[in-house]
Amino acid sequence: MLELPSDHRALLATVRRFCRERLEPHVAAFEAGDEPLEPFFRELSEALGLREVASALVDGTPSPFEGLPPLLLTSFVMHELSRCCPGVALSFGATTGLFGGAIVACGTDEQKRTWGKRALALDLVGAWALTEPGAGSDAFGSMKTRARAVDGGFILRGSKTFITNAPTCDVALVQARIEGTGDGRIAGFIVPTEARGFTRGRPFDKFGMQSSPTGELFLEDVFVPNELVLGGVGPDGLPQDARIAIKASLGAERLGMIPMLLAMVERCLEESLTYAKGRVQFGEPIANYQLVQQKLANIHTTKVLLETLFLRQTEAIALGRLDAITRAEASAHKLYAAKATVDAAMEAVQVMGGAGYMRGSVVEMMARDAKLFQIGGGTDDMQVLTIARDLLRVR
Ligand SMILES: Cc1cc2nc3c(=O)[nH]c(=O)nc-3n(C[C@H](O)[C@H](O)[C@H](O)COP(=O)(O)OP(=O)(O)OC[C@H]3O[C@@H](n4cnc5c(N)ncnc54)[C@H](O)[C@@H]3O)c2cc1C
Repeated sequence: MLELPSDHRALLATVRRFCRERLEPHVAAFEAGDEPLEPFFRELSEALGLREVASALVDGTPSPFEGLPPLLLTSFVMHELSRCCPGVALSFGATTGLFGGAIVACGTDEQKRTWGKRALALDLVGAWALTEPGAGSDAFGSMKTRARAVDGGFILRGSKTFITNAPTCDVALVQARIEGTGDGRIAGFIVPTEARGFTRGRPFDKFGMQSSPTGELFLEDVFVPNELVLGGVGPDGLPQDARIAIKASLGAERLGMIPMLLAMVERCLEESLTYAKGRVQFGEPIANYQLVQQKLANIHTTKVLLETLFLRQTEAIALGRLDAITRAEASAHKLYAAKATVDAAMEAVQVMGGAGYMRGSVVEMMARDAKLFQIGGGTDDMQVLTIARDLLRVR
């Protein structure tokens, strides 16, 4: 695929216009934590007909975007949200992709109808909780949150941290180890935040992604009925092991980062190019100086390479061949794109000098937000290990 088809470009332009008119004016308030995201998400859902999209996916009713795979729609929305504010895109992705996507992929029909559809339509705020205070990169091996089988369900005990949307979510998909199975089995539990014993901490203050609330979840003997065990329980009263499904969620998250990172680099290029043409020093626009041109060319080069990754993904989704992008390749995409975006955003700050360094400048927000992608969804080091493991297995 050399470029997006014209109908895809038209859709991107529509979402872009909506974000420019309805999101851009609120970014400063979202970043300061002065306004909640939910009213904007409701507007976005209405504008794009996300309820109809969700019904089409779960119930098979007609979609307003007939012929467009829902994953592509999500990818385009993530791209356009990230041009304005990556933190908003991160929270959108946690509800619709991590939480909603996992329910639609692995839930029972009832779970898809009750929780999946509402998440995809942004009618609720979802969170996806794997990381714990003692279990980050070693999320499976060090997991301490436990689920004990009791009559009609499970009792959950433990805590989760660094969870996107934890401070605002209506429901979380909590990953916990089942006690007493002997095989270290892990399962996902759909836990509404009003469940007794389920509490959360205050939003963390953090380096970037200020618009996206991040926090802790605490489970003190929370009863979760069998109907809310992701995918249900088998005849033995136990769920199947969810480790492969969790890895699939992480793989999807890695791929979902590419449209975000591309949009961030595009925006950094636009901002720094405009500034360089208008800023006069030593009697000339700084764009005339080759050292500035080199930085602009570096940012542009990153944009070109990320576009290539984006188009490869878009084609794989459009052809229904996402499986052609292996886990190691998705890791390679994320590893390259995250580092390249951090570098490009820093170049943009440099081109803009003090104006780029000031809080409230777009490139300053992009530079801080970009760093998250080298940590969240598996750190750079974990991507290297995944790629290396794959290389060593096939050779
Ligand atoms: C803003 C934000 C949002 C997040 N949202 C979510 C969410 O919604 N849900 C969720 O479950 N989690 C979420 N996370 C957690 C994220 O996935 C973890 O932070 C990440 O997996 C890394 O875990 P850690 O922070 O505990 O770092 P650690 O695992 O403690 O790693 C610390 C450092 O050690 C390195 N390291 C660790 N092991 C090795 C090794 N074997 N070899 C080489 N180096 C190693 C790491 O690469 C890293 O540099 C979020 C994090 C952030 C910052």
